[in-house]
Amino acid sequence: MVTEPNPYGGEVTVDLSAITANWLELCERHQSGHVGAVLKADAYGLGAGPVGKALATATCWNFFVAQLAEGVALRRTLSHGPMIAVLGGFGPGADQGAGLTPVLNTPQDVDAHRTAGTQGAILHVDTGMERLGLNAEQLAQCGDLTGLRLRYVMTHLACADNPVDPMNSAQAARFAAARARLPGVAGSFANSSGIFLGETFGSELARPGCALYGINPTPGRRNPMRQVMRLTVPVLQIRDVAAGTPVGYGATWVAKRDSRVATIAAGYADGYLRHLSGRGIAIAAGREAPIVGRVSMDLITLDVTDVPELRQGDRVELIGPHQTPDQVADLAGTIGYEVLTSLGARYARRYTTA
Ligand SMILES: *Cc1c(COP(=O)(O)O)cnc(C)c1O
Repeated sequence: MVTEPNPYGGEVTVDLSAITANWLELCERHQSGHVGAVLKADAYGLGAGPVGKALATATCWNFFVAQLAEGVALRRTLSHGPMIAVLGGFGPGADQGAGLTPVLNTPQDVDAHRTAGTQGAILHVDTGMERLGLNAEQLAQCGDLTGLRLRYVMTHLACADNPVDPMNSAQAARFAAARARLPGVAGSFANSSGIFLGETFGSELARPGCALYGINPTPGRRNPMRQVMRLTVPVLQIRDVAAGTPVGYGATWVAKRDSRVATIAAGYADGYLRHLSGRGIAIAAGREAPIVGRVSMDLITLDVTDVPELRQGDRVELIGPHQTPDQVADLAGTIGYEVLTSLGARYARRYTTA
């Protein structure tokens, strides 16, 4: 991850105070218990170290990552104290003293950790996702789990972003049944959208990810979260293009009028999806400049005919408050999560706490 300034390349600015504000907002809405933070995939592309530190300073004490290596790296930044749970699980002792909390997803995981005397694991029960976790039958066959001193029993919602989906209440009922088998063990239920589904989806520990990063946890309704990031990219060259001239690979765009075309320093190698060719827009000097022609590996061309003041070296916004990850995702036919987790390794990351 590039952390130095990057005058000739893209820069992602992350507002850590907005992330903290989002976390506090979620705490306010999850009255049944605590709110953790999901920092998998480098905090959805924004930087697990800085995001984790800021949230820990705000007293967030429970973190989730997907993979063991992510947990080991996060432990180095956070030092001892906060829980760091690994959703994908790991074998007994594989965290090499990092003090990570394994999520037990299979009967085999349970047996291995029981035999090794691991303490403080999280048991994942599947209530309808059919991805990871023990189903009801496997849970019934598990026998005595007291030796594991389970920290939590968790499950994951499949359709929480659609409040009227009957899957939600079905999962809530199955989770309640699983919890009845584990008296005294705290629960961990809602993801970001689940927090907005109401009290039935409350638990001792919610596990939001996307909402912390400004993605709308209530699609179709007003976004209750603050925007937290901005991607700006410098203009490398501006050229005048006569009407009738094609631009870029495949000559897919032909200027309809005499035009000004700006070439900026980002492309699909930076995770700016090639599907946004001819669809995406940049914000140049406060105005919309459409992407014209193909998105190439390292370069994108913009029609800036209507932004006469734009100069070589100026920066344009590709994602940010004027064009949120969710909006870019809509144009690209994907979801905000993918837009954020695709943010390239070449972009510099800058952190503000304004
Ligand atoms: C990714 C993930 C979350 C966070 O989901 P969001 O929709 O980003 O809030 C929570 N729990 C599990 C098991 C996950 O995999």
